[in-house]
Amino acid sequence: MRLEGKKAIVTGGAGGIGRATSLAFAAEGASVAVVDLNADAAAAVAEEIRAAGGTAIAVAADVSSEPDIERVIAAVVSQFGGIDVVFNNAGIIRRTTAVETSVEEWDRVFGVNVRAIFLMCKHVVPIMAAAGGGSIVNTGSGWGLKGGGQAISYCASKGAVVNMTRALAIDHGPQGIRVNSVNPGDVDTGMLRDEARQLGQDQAGFLAEAADRPLQRMGQPSEIAAAVVWLASDDSSYVTGSALVVDGGGIA
Ligand code: NAD
Repeated sequence: MRLEGKKAIVTGGAGGIGRATSLAFAAEGASVAVVDLNADAAAAVAEEIRAAGGTAIAVAADVSSEPDIERVIAAVVSQFGGIDVVFNNAGIIRRTTAVETSVEEWDRVFGVNVRAIFLMCKHVVPIMAAAGGGSIVNTGSGWGLKGGGQAISYCASKGAVVNMTRALAIDHGPQGIRVNSVNPGDVDTGMLRDEARQLGQDQAGFLAEAADRPLQRMGQPSEIAAAVVWLASDDSSYVTGSALVVDGGGIA
């Protein structure tokens, strides 16, 4: 029970990595707010946690919207009485080059992948600081560290997540707030399957290629969740500003 008594927000909590992390947080004793654009799927994850004896609420929100972020935080504070942990994980990908990317798509990717984290931190840091600290984990990507093909807005946005994480850690470390990024490689989620569709590729072939790394397989959402639990918990009490890579060796 490494998160006993902690109050946590998970954005994108209805998706592959977010759902696994919501369940893992709850299994470690945290109260969890499952935040997602997909209201029904978020409600199902919260129900799954409650059915297992945990504490959870679902909040439907678009994390790129400041009024939505303020509403999420108000709901969590009113239901749980505070916020100790935030996993800023909601994200989207567009598999296009610079030439193929419209300004609207660029802005949408940055809105969800980057602005949302800024907005969450803008509004949650004062609450954590007043309570003496907290832990924020942001989902970057292996492609935010090394780049990747046909995903210009995504790679740029995830690079921004990694460096914004460092900047947040510098600014708010003195307030007892740790901020780290977790950087997955290819993980078996809806996002990866959607990428095959966007690229017009055969799904089985695309997923097989994703296994081309030293550990010779894709990651599972629970393996990212395990790393996030560690970063969220006091077990990582001297870790801040770090970019933890969880990718089966794909960065090599
Ligand atoms: P997923 O598509 O399964 O889940 C993403 C979730 O985010 C979905 O439930 C979706 O509804 C939600 N979401 C999207 N836009 C939102 C918005 N504006 N507001 C609120 N919720 C929103 O994808 P996943 O693979 O679980 O991705 C989670 C994170 O991990 C993302 O940031 C992604 O970029 C990152 N990531 C994934 C992989 C991978 O291989 N799957 C690799 C590296 C990084």
